[in-house]
Amino acid sequence: MTGKYIIKNASHVVSMDNTIGNPTNCDVLIEDEYIRAVGPNLKSSSDHTIIDGTDVIVCPGFIDTHRHTWQTQLRTVATDHVLPDYILYLRQIYGSSYTPHDAYIGNYCGALESIDNGITYLVDHSHIMNSPEHADAAVQGLIDAKIRAVFCYATYMNPTWEGSCMDKEREETTPDWRLKDAERIKEKYFQSNEPGDLLRMGFTLSEPDLTPIDQLVREIQHARSIGAKVITAHSSHGKWDPGNFIVRRLGQKKMVGPDLLFSHGTSFSEDELLLIQEYGVGICSTPDTELQMGMSHPIAFKAKDLGCKASLGVDVCCSTPADMFRQMRLLLQAQRHLEHEALTGGALNMARKCEEVLEMATMGGAKAVGLDKVIGSITPGKRADLILVKCDNLRMFPIHDPIGALVLYANGSDIETVFINGEIVKSGGKLQVEWPKLREELRASVKSIMARSKKAPLEDLKAARDEFIKALVSRE
Ligand SMILES: [Zn+2]
Repeated sequence: MTGKYIIKNASHVVSMDNTIGNPTNCDVLIEDEYIRAVGPNLKSSSDHTIIDGTDVIVCPGFIDTHRHTWQTQLRTVATDHVLPDYILYLRQIYGSSYTPHDAYIGNYCGALESIDNGITYLVDHSHIMNSPEHADAAVQGLIDAKIRAVFCYATYMNPTWEGSCMDKEREETTPDWRLKDAERIKEKYFQSNEPGDLLRMGFTLSEPDLTPIDQLVREIQHARSIGAKVITAHSSHGKWDPGNFIVRRLGQKKMVGPDLLFSHGTSFSEDELLLIQEYGVGICSTPDTELQMGMSHPIAFKAKDLGCKASLGVDVCCSTPADMFRQMRLLLQAQRHLEHEALTGGALNMARKCEEVLEMATMGGAKAVGLDKVIGSITPGKRADLILVKCDNLRMFPIHDPIGALVLYANGSDIETVFINGEIVKSGGKLQVEWPKLREELRASVKSIMARSKKAPLEDLKAARDEFIKALVSRE
């Protein structure tokens, strides 16, 4: 339920809006779905609920531009994985072991985990489309969690093996059924698809580094024809990049536009980055998975320096929590290390500021998905997607620099309140769900996924994985 709220006398408002700046002792007025006013001593009426802002930082909700939300049940399975391990287990075994109900629970709990950590918008790169029912279930999970998101329907086909949740006949007789089904989903759930809608329809391309360019062109045309607002894809993963220069080739085909959003892109060439900048394409760096899985150094700062729309993503929860504080921190310190090491002597000036990564996690994300007029900053007239970070404990008190506190000190447990679209979805540090009951449903789902995954023909799938990897490293 939306309503009328006033956050009274917040210690700090980190607005990410240049004209508002970072005022102290400031009020924020929220009415219905919108931020109405930001400033000192705002007038409110008796029907405004007052929220005490003492020792609180108010900041925009985080925007996660790359997430496979369905993977909740697989938390911690990939903490020692490099990319080939991930491809074998997540993309060939566990993915094929998900029923529609598992996809629902994965997306629902994954979106709740995001909200708990202050992520108010996510790009759900949803490659768990084992059947049309999986697509419905994944969308329903996002709806029930009340998160703002774009559901990016993926064409990826999990492999079929005896005991998997794949329909062998459907995959063999109509292997491109997902294109048609994406259209059905658009019609069923996303008739309006306007910028202010909580959920919007997007599309995920087949893996561009492994897909013929003409097929990618057809997929982009299809996505645009059904009204997908964000068209996303993995691309150019450093040492796992076969050198196909996808963006350059899509440019030659006149397919590049601001609705495209590439994740990773650690090995984009200079000319590709310039094309990305020119056409306003979004880029998402996922520092945790890129640094862990051998995908090379995150490109975010290089892209940002060239004027590209650089943003951040969590990617997977099988090796990292859905925590944007952590992504900001990891990217910032890795970049500082890289730039300081490149100097001939010791660093006399700080290479990179905390504010740069906070921008990527908020306004940068909003720009990358074309919603910078709707979300991403504490600006009157924008949708009320914001978080209240409590700083009265031993780790967070006192605060001299609120941006430094958000980037280098805070974690999800400091988030007292989360607003999405003017509605409180976390308050008093707690989500509005019955977690013990939900946890038991999640536990049952984990048990059934693990039981099915045991039937996977490991040796055959390893051979298929090796082919996949060979194609990724075929560059001369
Ligand atoms: Zn990914």
